[in-house]
Amino acid sequence: MAELDNAFSWSRSRDHLFNDCRRKYFYHYYGSWSGWEADAPEEVRRLYVLKQLTSRQAWAGRLVHEGVEWVLRALREGREQLPEAWLVEEFVQRMRREWRFSRDRRYREAPKGTALFEHEYGVEVAPREWQILRDHIVRCLRNFYRLPLLAEIRRTPPERWILIEEIRAFEFEGTPVYAAPDFGYWTAEERLALVDWKTGGADPDASALQLGGYALYAREVLEVEPARVDLLEVNLREPSVFRHPWDGGRLQEVTEQLRLSIRGMKAWLRDPEANVAVLEDFERTEDLRLCRGCNFRAVCRPEL
Ligand code: SF4
Repeated sequence: MAELDNAFSWSRSRDHLFNDCRRKYFYHYYGSWSGWEADAPEEVRRLYVLKQLTSRQAWAGRLVHEGVEWVLRALREGREQLPEAWLVEEFVQRMRREWRFSRDRRYREAPKGTALFEHEYGVEVAPREWQILRDHIVRCLRNFYRLPLLAEIRRTPPERWILIEEIRAFEFEGTPVYAAPDFGYWTAEERLALVDWKTGGADPDASALQLGGYALYAREVLEVEPARVDLLEVNLREPSVFRHPWDGGRLQEVTEQLRLSIRGMKAWLRDPEANVAVLEDFERTEDLRLCRGCNFRAVCRPEL
């Protein structure tokens, strides 16, 4: 098999990590690279395992996304809508299986499996807290079934759905950008609705760049101008649907932000062409609160 190349690309989460802590960014995108190889050096493997850790809230969000995707995929394939009770039970069971896998730290041998930060770092989480998380997943999945938006999607012929998973990245001024929404469809009013499923609290600042990325996706991949795009932020916890209309002016602003973000990250590289980074160039944050919740704490600040 051809060797994988660590090519530079942009994503909202990469931008976020870069702004959080440069050292963390280095570990995530460079230090852990090739840690999946059987003969990877021990420290690289360790970073790779730590990189996969996820918080329990993010894990719950991922499970809800998967559940939603199952329902939509079945509908697209012309099957019956998956029964709500069946899907909820399936995901509760799945949650339990994944939780045990993580608790037993089996991800150390199989890093692609669920690896919870709480288990790796021995964070005390009361049983009640895990139950609240399970209830959260159940509630989000149930809310999904009750969304008027789902009824609207079901009324829309599948040929008017956008199969996002086929193209997740697009080229922006020579850089691959990962900014695909979760789902899209053409409305009866001939507008393109791009949907982002959310399961946590709103963060307007974080959303702006992310949603802008989706508008750019619409223009670059789907060739739809911003004025015809509605960005739908669907919070499955509430549930609520927030419609962000888009326009060329806002897209221009986001494009500039994206350009600056890419330029900023590349400025930290020893060789931007070859995407070569050196650990010493990436300083550690002074904000120890960030360190306490950081995946790489065991390597970077083991004293904490
Ligand atoms: S432990 Fe702190 S300094 Fe080290 S990578 Fe994590 S956030 Fe950065």
